Amino acid sequence: MIEMQDIWKTYTNGSHALRGINVLIDKDEFVYLVGPSGAGKSTFMKLIYREEVPTKGQLFVNGFNIGKLKQRKIPYVRRNIGVIFQDFRLLPKLTAYENVAFAMEVIEAPKKVIKRRVPEVLELVGLKQKMNCLPSQLSGGEQQRVAIARAIVNNPAVLVADEPTGNLDPETSWEIMKLLEEINYRGTTIIMATHNKDIVNRIRRRVIAIEEGTIVRDEARGDYGYDT
Ligand code: ADP
Ligand code: ADP
Repeated sequence: MIEMQDIWKTYTNGSHALRGINVLIDKDEFVYLVGPSGAGKSTFMKLIYREEVPTKGQLFVNGFNIGKLKQRKIPYVRRNIGVIFQDFRLLPKLTAYENVAFAMEVIEAPKKVIKRRVPEVLELVGLKQKMNCLPSQLSGGEQQRVAIARAIVNNPAVLVADEPTGNLDPETSWEIMKLLEEINYRGTTIIMATHNKDIVNRIRRRVIAIEEGTIVRDEARGDYGYDT
């Protein structure tokens, strides 16, 4: 599903965010990315959803060689990858329904399909009753559910989550985790960067620890491994 071969990323200011990453992530895996701030976790994920390109090395996502991707092929890769963020990033003037529908309009899905699929996915995340609410009328947990619905509406093979519980209280965080587990169970690969020690230690999954741009630990059912 995702393969990195000696991946390096150096930003234009000279900072070496990733230094020789080798990793293989299979379909159906749930992977936590842990490590100190500035270790390279976001960069790792940005390469996967093609927000950034590697400076060196080979990266395959879903069979596509991401580094060599032609500009016009980028949308094909992006539609196979859903992304969620700590700060939700919903469009503030659109309702929950419209935020999710927008992700389908972008890939030019037929109107009929959008009308059927959006309520279905909002139901899956438990927000069907609130589909006409604006983000400002929703709690943080509800906004993150909308963001998750938007990320999975096109049935992506991979869901990338950059600290998805970072702005949520513990109880809401567990609810979001249950939802992510359900999505993973349905066959979507999940890669989640997190500083949430309780979650990593209680919902045991593969843990990849990154420090200063290199993988320092990779365990099938690892623990968080840091004090905070
Ligand atoms: P993490 O997500 O683990 O906090 P990042 O991937 O955000 O780490 O950052 C890794 C390193 O790359 C840091 O030193 C950071 O300052 C640097 N970096 C990240 N994004 C950029 C950018 N757009 N331009 C320059 N340097 C960056
Ligand atoms: P830009 O050229 O302005 O970066 P993009 O289309 O690359 O526009 O991204 C717009 C926003 O959507 C960015 O915040 C980016 O991180 C995010 N994004 C990119 N790809 C995806 C995706 N597959 N799913 C969800 N969000 C994405």
